[in-house]
Amino acid sequence: MIAILLGAPGSGKGTQAKVLQEDRGWLHLSTGDMLRAAIQNNTTLGQKAKSYMDKGELVPDAVVIGLIQEQVQSQKKVSRNVPGIILDGFPRTVEQANALKDLLGKLGQKVDKVLYFEINEDDVIRRLSGRRTCPGCGKIYHIESSPPKKEGVCDTCGGELKLRDDDRKEVIQKRLKVYDTQTSPLIEYYKKQKMLHSLDASSAPEKVNKAVQKILGI
Ligand code: AMP
Repeated sequence: MIAILLGAPGSGKGTQAKVLQEDRGWLHLSTGDMLRAAIQNNTTLGQKAKSYMDKGELVPDAVVIGLIQEQVQSQKKVSRNVPGIILDGFPRTVEQANALKDLLGKLGQKVDKVLYFEINEDDVIRRLSGRRTCPGCGKIYHIESSPPKKEGVCDTCGGELKLRDDDRKEVIQKRLKVYDTQTSPLIEYYKKQKMLHSLDASSAPEKVNKAVQKILGI
C-alpha cells in the first residue's frame, strides 16, 4: 500500500507518519526530512535547498523529484518487506504528482490512497509557532499540547529541541500562501481520481490516528 499524506504545513502529517512508522513498521518518506538532513550534512543539494526553505518557498520540482526517485529506487528492496509506504510532504505540486505517477508506473506500482488532513488556518498557525522538533531523532513536540517531560529536551534521545527556522511567524504566513497556490490544487487532482479521503486534522493526535487507521484499513 502506498499512501500520500496531503495537507497544510502543521496539519499533523509528520506526527501521524511517525506513528505509522514506529507502531506499524511503515516506511516513512518525508521530503522535508530528507532536505533538512541534506542541509545538516552541508551537501550541494542542501546548500541549494536551504535558501528556498528559509524563505518558506518550495524547493524546485526537479530537485525534489530527483530526491524521491533516488529514494524509491534505493528502497525498492526494503519496500517489499514493509506493510506500506507513507509519502509525507510529497507531492506538493501537480508536476510532482504527475512525476510520481510515472515513476511508480515504471515500477508496476501506484498510489493507493491520499489522506487529506483538513484544518483551519488559525489552528495551523498556533501549532507551527508552538512546534519544537528534535534534530537528533526527528520527534515532534508542542510547547502546550504535547510538551517534553523536561523543557527543551527530547524525551526519546535527550537531544536539544529546536524551533525550525521555517516555523518562525514571518515564514509561516509565506508557507501557507505557497500551500494555497501550489499544493492545494492537488485536492481536486486526487478527488477527480477518486483517491482522496478527508479527515478532520484539528483533533488530538490519538483521534486523528484512529481516523488514519480507519482509512488505511489497519
Ligand atoms: P516540511 O517538513 O514537509 O514542512 O517541508 C519543509 C520545507 O521543505 C518546505 O517548506 C519546502 O521548502 C521544502 N519541501 C519539502 N517537501 C517539498 C516538496 N515536495 N517540494 C518542494 N519543496 C519541498
